[in-house]
Amino acid sequence: MSGVSISVIVTGACGKVGRHIVHGIAGEADLRLVAAVDRKRVGQDIGTIAGGSPLGVAVVEDLAAAIGSAKPQVLVDFTTPDAVKDNIRTALKKRVACVVGTTGLTPGDLAEVAALCREYSTPALVAPNFAIGAVLLMEFAAQAAKYFSAAEIIELHHDQKLDAPSGTALKTAEMMRHADGGLLGDEPAKPEDRPPRGLAAGKIRIHSVRLPGLVAHQEVIFGGLGQTLTLRHDSISRDSFLPGVLLAIRKVLSLEGLTYGLEEIL
Ligand code: NAP
Repeated sequence: MSGVSISVIVTGACGKVGRHIVHGIAGEADLRLVAAVDRKRVGQDIGTIAGGSPLGVAVVEDLAAAIGSAKPQVLVDFTTPDAVKDNIRTALKKRVACVVGTTGLTPGDLAEVAALCREYSTPALVAPNFAIGAVLLMEFAAQAAKYFSAAEIIELHHDQKLDAPSGTALKTAEMMRHADGGLLGDEPAKPEDRPPRGLAAGKIRIHSVRLPGLVAHQEVIFGGLGQTLTLRHDSISRDSFLPGVLLAIRKVLSLEGLTYGLEEIL
């Protein structure tokens, strides 16, 4: 190790995922947590909140001020669909690279992030899912889309999740629809003659389940002549997102513009 470390600020640091990320960063010799932002538990040590030893970093509420004083190189955001856009804007304007896990960003929001990346010559990586298994599921689903012309997605998450359908489900459907030689195409779903069943992403329907006890799960079911194929991924612990986030922190500074999806840096 050269002794050079990447300084990181985490927004949503006290949240369910944020705490895992803080704990993970604290265990890496080449990463340095320099600030933690959340709107709750302000003033408390983030290391203790994350279930480890004190890190000497107190939670603060004002992101712009925290960037000004801690001078991070990378922002990691796991907040809410309402907060994430402002956080990205604030960071990019101050030339802090962004690693974004928060879901709920629309294609219009992503276009705005891409424009900000260009304007401030600062990179951002947005990934709807940082779990390697979920990324592989998307790739496998895109492969299967070459052989099946009908498919539906069921995504299942804990009942506190604010957005539906999940960013992972939307991205999976996009990859299936745009797969080379894919049979699922851009054709819209046929109008319903019965009450609606899930959200139509082209021909693919996405169903969202929200229940206590779940973390993050997804099934893609293909239907063909006399057969079905089911692909399923389960994040059974929020630790599943950590290796992908650590990889993104280490890679983002060498990227240009907006990168969408963990698969782009694997
Ligand atoms: P969570 O437990 O609600 O955590 C979000 C945290 O952000 C909360 O502590 C929240 O405070 C705080 N917050 C909200 N607005 C803020 C702001 N303006 N500034 C600073 N902090 C703010 O949610 P989570 O389960 O950790 O998930 C966070 C996001 O990550 C969600 O969008 C989720 O879908 C996404 N996610 C992505 C992945 C992936 O792999 N990409 C994996 C899991 C989750 P309050 O409680 O006061 O609102």
